[in-house]
Amino acid sequence: MANDYDVIVAGCGPAGSVCGRVLAASGLRVLAVDRSEFPRDKLCGGLLTWKSMQLLQRLTGLCARDLCLAGIVDHATPDYLIRYRGKPLTGGRTEYPFHFVKRRVLDAFLLNRAREAGLALALGREVRAVREVDGAGGPSATVSLDDGRVLRAGWIVGADGVNSLVRRSFPLPAATWRRNLGQAVEVHVAHEAVRALPGAHEDLGRGRAVLYAGFLRAGYAWVLPNSDCVAVGLGGLIRSNGNAFKSIFMEFLRFLGLPEALADRARAHPIPYGNYLRRPARGRVLLCGDAAGLVEPFFGEGIYYAMRSGELAARAVLAHAADPGAVARAYACALEAHVLREFDASMRLRAPLYSCVRMSWIAPIAVFLGLGGNRLLEMVHGRRSFRFLRPLPADPWVE
Ligand SMILES: Cc1cc2nc3c(=O)[nH]c(=O)nc-3n(C[C@H](O)[C@H](O)[C@H](O)COP(=O)(O)OP(=O)(O)OC[C@H]3O[C@@H](n4cnc5c(N)ncnc54)[C@H](O)[C@@H]3O)c2cc1C
Repeated sequence: MANDYDVIVAGCGPAGSVCGRVLAASGLRVLAVDRSEFPRDKLCGGLLTWKSMQLLQRLTGLCARDLCLAGIVDHATPDYLIRYRGKPLTGGRTEYPFHFVKRRVLDAFLLNRAREAGLALALGREVRAVREVDGAGGPSATVSLDDGRVLRAGWIVGADGVNSLVRRSFPLPAATWRRNLGQAVEVHVAHEAVRALPGAHEDLGRGRAVLYAGFLRAGYAWVLPNSDCVAVGLGGLIRSNGNAFKSIFMEFLRFLGLPEALADRARAHPIPYGNYLRRPARGRVLLCGDAAGLVEPFFGEGIYYAMRSGELAARAVLAHAADPGAVARAYACALEAHVLREFDASMRLRAPLYSCVRMSWIAPIAVFLGLGGNRLLEMVHGRRSFRFLRPLPADPWVE
């Protein structure tokens, strides 16, 4: 029996769209399936670092200015502040600004680009099961959809987010995945609503990015600016913060002078927070983005890694399609070189810092931020490594 497609991609977030686009642009027959219709919302702070902007430029041909003019980027600011609760620890201006997107806009834009490159879409359709098969036409895999269709393809890419159904076909103990699983809670508050509140904290109206240590045991809180609103949120490890996310979020709202009732409008979503997979390919199935746990484990940046892993997965399939073992090895090696070494270093960095936060030792954190200075910002942006803040050449992010 012939395959219906060369590749089926489950999930049309940044990981799935970029993967699907690279494959379709190379002439493969690719179908991407998403249970949502697009545009769709995705809970996210929408912060893009320098390396994300570099990658977006390489993938779409649009520089930061073009992306702003096209309305894909909603807001940009070089201003930032880091606090321990109310106390300012460090702040100022970054050489390269932080850019902010609304995921409804960014994800639809990336998906449209992929569609233009020839990606076929099944939107509003859920993937219910994935199975590897060895039929007369050779080994392949099938995807069962909620409309009863069973589609066959040479490769399946799971880009279906943190709760990935495709990942369930991997022999991964649930406890291993849960150990470094995080939870995030966020609400968007319109500037008008903030202005109407006499007790609103100054951080809500300054248009700068503010991060707060000290509210969570392992994690942090944020106020991130958009053109029409601020994103107020927090995220951290579930095992360290237990069931306290809602009560901590309400405490954070009180600190900001926002009504506690906003907690009812806030949404929660799991986030990978150190549970990245070293072997995200097995047989005819590859995982990328959140499905593979590819979120940087200190700051929780995931959009860049979703796009980058989608691209690397596509390249591995294109280079070695006839040999599943070679695809898995090529993908794992590329992730190791371009992503996981940095993640390992980020894990080593977060452990002592979170210990200081737990013990309320503010002085060592302030010393670390003071000594790191601008180099820490460059690390966040991807211009320096999480390993000893060594400078990184531009090409790990842009080649
Ligand atoms: C509160 C919060 C704030 C964040 N802030 C930032 C930030 O500021 N900057 C940053 O870089 N990262 C941030 N992240 C992380 C970032 O949102 C993710 O890492 C990123 O969205 C991962 O992209 P993805 O394509 O892997 O998955 P997703 O964007 O989650 O896309 C997965 C897609 O798969 C679809 N899907 C799921 N299951 C199925 C199924 N069974 N069948 C069909 N379709 C399915 C979904 O509908 C969805 O469209 C944040 C995360 C959270 C929770």
